[in-house]
Amino acid sequence: MVALVKSLSSRRELKELIILKLGGSVLTDRSHPFTPNRSNVERLCKEITRGYNKKKNSLAIVHGAGSFGHPLVSQTGIHKGISRAEQLMAFAEVQGWQNYWNLVVTKALRKEGLAAIPCQPSSHSVMESGRLVWMPVDAVRGFLEIGLIPVLYGVPAYDRDQGCSILSGDLIAPHLARELAAKKIIHGTDVDGVFTDDPNRNPKARLIKEITSRNIEEVKKYLSASSFVDVTGGMTRKVMELMDLAKLGIVSEIVNANKPGLVEKALAGKSGLGTIVRI
Ligand code: ADP
Repeated sequence: MVALVKSLSSRRELKELIILKLGGSVLTDRSHPFTPNRSNVERLCKEITRGYNKKKNSLAIVHGAGSFGHPLVSQTGIHKGISRAEQLMAFAEVQGWQNYWNLVVTKALRKEGLAAIPCQPSSHSVMESGRLVWMPVDAVRGFLEIGLIPVLYGVPAYDRDQGCSILSGDLIAPHLARELAAKKIIHGTDVDGVFTDDPNRNPKARLIKEITSRNIEEVKKYLSASSFVDVTGGMTRKVMELMDLAKLGIVSEIVNANKPGLVEKALAGKSGLGTIVRI
């Protein structure tokens, strides 16, 4: 047993790492608090089983909170910090809901034969004014090395300056990508990619197929005009985080996970399915 543990803990090369972020917009029913979108959860778990090539890749999954987090967080204001005693109860309660929600997601993944292991990010992460400043990834790396699929999730987290802020999936995914030298991030969301305006509000908005250092300034203008900012920073924060990663050579693609087959194809190595972010 000791020998097994030792051999498992000795560092090995990671297979090419893919990080799949699945938005709360896709996995939950946003119009009903604390409600999963069961058909999307089940379909996406099947797509992951089919698209993920175990021989070639390691896979980490990060999921959003959607209706398990956003309504309670905005009602209680804990994303802006803790200034009243009753917010402590809200902080703890939101965290509790995220644990429950992660259990639902990981159980669905295991039902499809994927060795999905729950990983609670806020128990070992520190924020500063909404920025993630400390989150060791050694255990996650170890899980990947032995062939597990770590599943992390957006949570309210301890913040040195304000007591609490939101450690969203959109912050966790790039952090993992940077620390573990991922090959690619796939962002599954509820629209076809990044548009010139919010496609849910403006039918004339055009899809931007590629974001690079050449058009990022223009894209920033579109985003600042369009983006409704939720408690996690919405599309703007997603894109800015991914652009920072692109500078390190890590490519990302934002795809519509509501459209059957796209997450599967992206996992299998296809690109050009949504918006690619690269240098
Ligand atoms: P997720 O829960 O998948 O992380 P978000 O709610 O953070 O997703 O971001 C997706 C939403 O961003 C879309 O539903 C869309 O309404 C909104 N959005 C705002 N501006 C844009 C834009 N310029 N391009 C694409 N989506 C945008």
